[in-house]
Amino acid sequence: MRHGLTTRCFAAILLVSMIIDVVLPIQRANGIQASQSTTRYTLQFSSNNSWNFLETIMKYNPRFPGTVGINETAACIESALVDNGGTVIEEPFTVNGVHCKNIIGEWKPAVDDSGQIVILASHYDARARASQDPDPSKRNDTMPAADDGGSSTVILMELARILNNLYNNTTLGIRRETWLVFFDAEDQGNDGNGDGMARWDWCQGSSTMATNIVAFTGNTSRVVLFTLLDMVGGIGLQVNHEMFSNQSLLASFFAMGQCLGYGQYFSSSAKSYYIEDDHGPFIDINIPSIDIIDLDYPQWHTTSDDLVHVSASVIGSVGRVSEAFLLSNLVDSSSLAITDSDTGKTWTASGCTFNNSWFDFTGFLGQYWPYLLLVGLVIIVVTIILHERLRKSQSGQTRHKLARASTSQPPNTGRE
Ligand SMILES: [Zn+2]
Repeated sequence: MRHGLTTRCFAAILLVSMIIDVVLPIQRANGIQASQSTTRYTLQFSSNNSWNFLETIMKYNPRFPGTVGINETAACIESALVDNGGTVIEEPFTVNGVHCKNIIGEWKPAVDDSGQIVILASHYDARARASQDPDPSKRNDTMPAADDGGSSTVILMELARILNNLYNNTTLGIRRETWLVFFDAEDQGNDGNGDGMARWDWCQGSSTMATNIVAFTGNTSRVVLFTLLDMVGGIGLQVNHEMFSNQSLLASFFAMGQCLGYGQYFSSSAKSYYIEDDHGPFIDINIPSIDIIDLDYPQWHTTSDDLVHVSASVIGSVGRVSEAFLLSNLVDSSSLAITDSDTGKTWTASGCTFNNSWFDFTGFLGQYWPYLLLVGLVIIVVTIILHERLRKSQSGQTRHKLARASTSQPPNTGRE
């Protein structure tokens, strides 16, 4: 009876082993197919690198048009582009006798260039006057411009390093060009407390480039996306729903931010504004455009727009969302899975996942369930065998005791 049970148990284990031999290779093959059809990408943006750039350009202050500081900033930007494989194009122009220039860094696919262009842009000039300073005596002072002109510029400078990696990665299949564009002469218009520079208007660099876009591209329709970053490094950042922007693209950027774990900066309940900014001239020539901006930055156009009021963590967060958004617009996003190792979140076109411990546990179960079943069966068999042996030995002892009991009993004396 006991031998029969053990035999059946081992037969069950053998059967499960055979199932494992058949099932696991199928599972592994499916895993390989899945990884072949899904392009997995981990975000590379470094908040430290962008913060180092910010500290560097802040040392060039003041950085408004016509200063030594803006020329030093331009040189710093251009070396970040060139050092990372970007082709630099300058677009010089003059405003009220002051020499200005836009800077463009281009990356093109080595093969299969579709000719389509994705632009990521920032202004790099600082406003000449802190015209909104709460202290009226400081309103003609220059402003540090850590956030306004600083934060977005250093995000693009760090993205240059990442673009170099992306365009050297043949497995990603990038077929679009990326242009990082740094506008001069954005921030000198009248903000209600006077001009930044006398008789200057807003957005003169972007207006100049949009006017000349055919000279750069040959055909305006080549530019399929224009994304502007402006004032994105402030502590307590709340990116606005900017109403001139292409609302569907803006919603995609917000969804990307929320998915990757940065919902506090990309809130569904953020304020909505119509904001005149560098994306305006590109909307006017029918290029799908968005503006990622927080207009409620408390130190806007004040002498306090300094390193104390911006955050490396916020800059890094916006940088990572920008990197993800850019990549999702450079390749076939339906086969893309973008992971942020800082937050443990993964974005795909069909949804978001969170790599927490429960997810790993279910993944582990899914991958190794046949082995776990085998181990469980072995434990059951060993338990049964031990139980049988224990029962046998106990029954032997009982019989022995009974035997001893029967031998030790005094013989019947027949007193009854
Ligand atoms: Zn400004």
